[in-house]
Amino acid sequence: MAALLPRQIHVFVRDWLSANNILLKSHDGHVLIDTGYVRHAPFTLTLLRSPRGLGDEPLAKIVNTHCHSDHIGGNATIQRAYGCPIALPEGEAPLIERWDTKALWLDYADQRTDRFAVDEILCAGTTQIWGGLEWRAIQAPGHDMGALVFFNPEYRILISGDALWENGYGLVMPRAIDPAAVPATRATLNLIAALKARIVIPGHGEVFTDVAPALERAYARTTAFEADDARVARHALKVLLTFRLLDCQRMPLADLPAYVERVGMFRDLNAACLGLAPDELAQLLVRELVRAGAAAVQDGFLVPA
Ligand SMILES: [Zn+2]
Repeated sequence: MAALLPRQIHVFVRDWLSANNILLKSHDGHVLIDTGYVRHAPFTLTLLRSPRGLGDEPLAKIVNTHCHSDHIGGNATIQRAYGCPIALPEGEAPLIERWDTKALWLDYADQRTDRFAVDEILCAGTTQIWGGLEWRAIQAPGHDMGALVFFNPEYRILISGDALWENGYGLVMPRAIDPAAVPATRATLNLIAALKARIVIPGHGEVFTDVAPALERAYARTTAFEADDARVARHALKVLLTFRLLDCQRMPLADLPAYVERVGMFRDLNAACLGLAPDELAQLLVRELVRAGAAAVQDGFLVPA
């Protein structure tokens, strides 16, 4: 799939802990979109310095599609290495400036990143020249209310962040927490559908060209979410716990009830949508993650499958 992309675009496809890193190369300065999770930052730097990356050449700019920990975690490390500015979506910049760890889903979701500062603000509706190509910045709220996606009309390539993956999109807040999130998700899918992209470079997973079926799956998920707020919350909590598991590699089952009570996002989503006792919530999440093949139970620990 990557072979379909113009030569100046290189995508490092990562896993679910680190978002993909998209390198847009040009004589006018190389640009990197999204930097992965903080625990992987040294490896992201290694990829960037590899012959398929920049080799010995400088990096001119870091850009983020949105400011979740798996997209911004390498910002500080890479900025230190290259001395380049960091450009953020207009809606995200204030959160980074005041380091709002709740709105950024950092300690609130038991996730981490190294702190960095905003050097440049990207506004929806503007066109950026990166990698010698034009990229329209388009508002893409839903999973993240301040997110942008970037569209190149010439090749009809969409850099979609977590707004559209080949199978779904990033977790969304239930209406009981943020009434705007699920409706915004649908509106963003409509916007993306209207672009008629030929190639999507998602925040996670391989580059794909079967855009219509991907949109169909995303719409189907949104319809299910619209019908059942508790489902939105369960999905979000399963994604969060899976992410935590990938980060720490194993969690004692016995600690899980206290964990879902201590971490704000678990506590708030449970209180707003599920109303379960902490041990009931822990059991539900373990059961569903094991059934989905995302986790396994080994010697009293929950581990990634
Ligand atoms: Zn995200």
